[in-house]
Amino acid sequence: MHQIPAIANGALDDLRSGFTGVILTGRSEEMLRHAYDWWPIAAMWRKQGKTPHLPEAVCFPATKDDVAALLRWATTHRVPLTAWGAGSSVTGACLPSHGGMTVDFSRMTRVLEFNETDCFVRVEPGIMGDKLEAWLNERGFTLNHSPQSLDRSTPGGWVATFATGQYSSKYGGIEDLLLGLEVMLPDGSTATTHLTPRTATGPDLRQVFIGAEGTLGMTVEVTLKVFACSPCQKFAAFELPDVAAGIKVMREIMQSGLRPFLMRFYDEDEAWHAMKQAGYRHCVLFLATNGIREVAEAELAACAHLVAQAGGQAIGPAPVEAWMNRRFDFSTVEGYLERPGGYAETIEIAHFWSRIEALHARLKQALQPLATEVMSHFSHAYDQGTSMYMILLGQAPDDAEAEARLKKIWQITMEICLEDKATIAHHHGAGLARSPYIRRERTGDHHLLQRIKSALDPHNLMNPGKLGLND
Ligand SMILES: Cc1cc2nc3c(=O)[nH]c(=O)nc-3n(C[C@H](O)[C@H](O)[C@H](O)COP(=O)(O)OP(=O)(O)OC[C@H]3O[C@@H](n4cnc5c(N)ncnc54)[C@H](O)[C@@H]3O)c2cc1C
Repeated sequence: MHQIPAIANGALDDLRSGFTGVILTGRSEEMLRHAYDWWPIAAMWRKQGKTPHLPEAVCFPATKDDVAALLRWATTHRVPLTAWGAGSSVTGACLPSHGGMTVDFSRMTRVLEFNETDCFVRVEPGIMGDKLEAWLNERGFTLNHSPQSLDRSTPGGWVATFATGQYSSKYGGIEDLLLGLEVMLPDGSTATTHLTPRTATGPDLRQVFIGAEGTLGMTVEVTLKVFACSPCQKFAAFELPDVAAGIKVMREIMQSGLRPFLMRFYDEDEAWHAMKQAGYRHCVLFLATNGIREVAEAELAACAHLVAQAGGQAIGPAPVEAWMNRRFDFSTVEGYLERPGGYAETIEIAHFWSRIEALHARLKQALQPLATEVMSHFSHAYDQGTSMYMILLGQAPDDAEAEARLKKIWQITMEICLEDKATIAHHHGAGLARSPYIRRERTGDHHLLQRIKSALDPHNLMNPGKLGLND
């Protein structure tokens, strides 16, 4: 893609006068780092030396005043701004599509307020997830938001991508964990939501910014719920006869009101990765409960009873304990992405319980010709349905062919989900990968999103080219 420069000559000099942060331009290593996120297609561009989404400049605001100055400057000079948390997006969400400036929040990392009694923490948007979690753990608290990318993502990014973590079946996604937000809007004004356990004074405007991918404003503060660390965790793994049995037991667990904090069901193709045993060919369910010991034990026993009724066989806690110790490990996918011609993809979608098994079978069959391994797991469950990850690992003759196959994988998956009325995204947001499909999914309300966008960002400067806006 050829970009037309969006930053006029001399415009950066205007910004430098009112901005205390760092501003970079050119093609230095640091600039190139902002041309790629963790979207596997971006990894293919990197291997081929392509830079279709290199920003024209990258800046590192240090204060809210810097962000305000930046927004005023961008509006005056009509410069597109793309927020960057830690660049762990796996969909190209933080890659600029119209040039302009990338706004890297890695210098805004302070903990601003911690309230043990009311159980919340207020932070700047760029603090790394693992640093914040460690800070809370030292004080006996936890976020209970545990994305696999905890050590490479930020609260600003979590809110913007509608993130969820490995413990979501009990604690929910970021929409359940977010207590308050401060957002700076393109006209330089600030919107701070009322900090309260709950309110009935009108629509909840936090929701407007959750999943907005920085298209409506820049988040400058995030207030998250925190929880006292659990005194006890209990683990158990089970072999299940087939995918249907696993889906059924997950549904029964959720619909009977049980809330294991960890529930992951792997189909027979992925189970050997989860078990770290080559040749292992069973479907496998990982469960973990927590709380005071008696409750954690009783909840696990109740879950185990349902699993046994579905034909499950207990295989002990060790596989889950081992998984917990490597729950942030991404090395299998990284290994494929790094080698010449190697590719890998993880696409997460969600559907109702009544439709997910058929969708699983259909997607696996459709994607089989495009990769060496096509596998799935189900790991974020609700009373109504569940997420499903499709994971693909493959080897092409070269990186260009690998890129072409990844594009085909996305196209097939999105088209099948749209046909089946599944959601095309469970928690990785839309980014460049899904933006072309959003209007087909959101036929009923995309017009409203567009109206909000046009009202808040009339010049289309905030991460343009995302969420199917202003197409
Ligand atoms: C190994 C790996 C595992 C992952 N596992 C999970 C997982 O378990 N759960 C999950 O939900 N996701 C997961 N992801 C995806 C990714 O980590 C999330 O999408 C994450 O929320 C992105 O956060 P970030 O800080 O890196 O944001 P970035 O990737 O930098 O940006 C993502 C989006 O947020 C916007 N944004 C960032 N900061 C701000 C701000 N201050 N104001 C406004 N907009 C902003 C950007 O413009 C962009 O649109 C994983 C990714 C990797 C690489």
